[in-house]
Amino acid sequence: MSDVNELVIVSLYPRDMNIYGDRGNVLSLSRRARAHGFAPRVVEVNPGDPLPAQIDIVLGGGGQDSGQGRVAVDLVARGNTMRDLASDGVPMLMVCGLYQLFGHRFLTHTGEELTGIGVLDVETRGGEERMIGNIVLSSDEFGEIIGYENHSGDTTVGPGSKPLGKVLQGAGNNPRDGVEGARTNNVIGTYLHGSLLPKNPAISDFLIAEAARRRYGSFEPAAGDDLTVQRARESAKRRPR
Ligand code: GLN
Repeated sequence: MSDVNELVIVSLYPRDMNIYGDRGNVLSLSRRARAHGFAPRVVEVNPGDPLPAQIDIVLGGGGQDSGQGRVAVDLVARGNTMRDLASDGVPMLMVCGLYQLFGHRFLTHTGEELTGIGVLDVETRGGEERMIGNIVLSSDEFGEIIGYENHSGDTTVGPGSKPLGKVLQGAGNNPRDGVEGARTNNVIGTYLHGSLLPKNPAISDFLIAEAARRRYGSFEPAAGDDLTVQRARESAKRRPR
């Protein structure tokens, strides 16, 4: 039996929701978890698959409207479980298509309504305009966040979530509000592909720190003077249980 602490990473709907390299988030997070001394175990969950008994982190990616249609009913069936996990502090990162479905609803540009699970207080409408290009955010918690957006969904954030960051370059949730993404508890929704995590290790460290503290009671970042480790340390200090 290994004395290395495992972290179970659920990769949600990798078959249908994995666009613009979102799978890179799973690879990058696993690698970063290993660097911090954990043994990551990735469990892929496609529609109809059981969820593992232990869940430490949940990752989800983006997809076409058609892919979202394929997973939406399955996700709604898991809605209570996901809301409970989110309330219990499980860290999650949902990109683009799954960001939209972790909100209340997505009204597609063809008039279809996809019901979401309301973990995030956001609502999305498919618009005429596509928001495409590199995007830069500033975030109090994570510093500068860099990624790539490509969506026609126009998202608004309600009072139950706060935006992930302010848009310095690009569109973000919509062309009007100057903000991007949403956050409730330890759940982050964002339009940023890229993949996101290889470019933004502070977010990986946040996911790992919160998961480790929830499951094992503490998080000691791997020794090193890298800035992201310092940020993870500060984040771990800021939210004692
Ligand atoms: N279909 C959604 C939109 O265009 C999501 C796109 C994506 O996941 N890249 O808004």
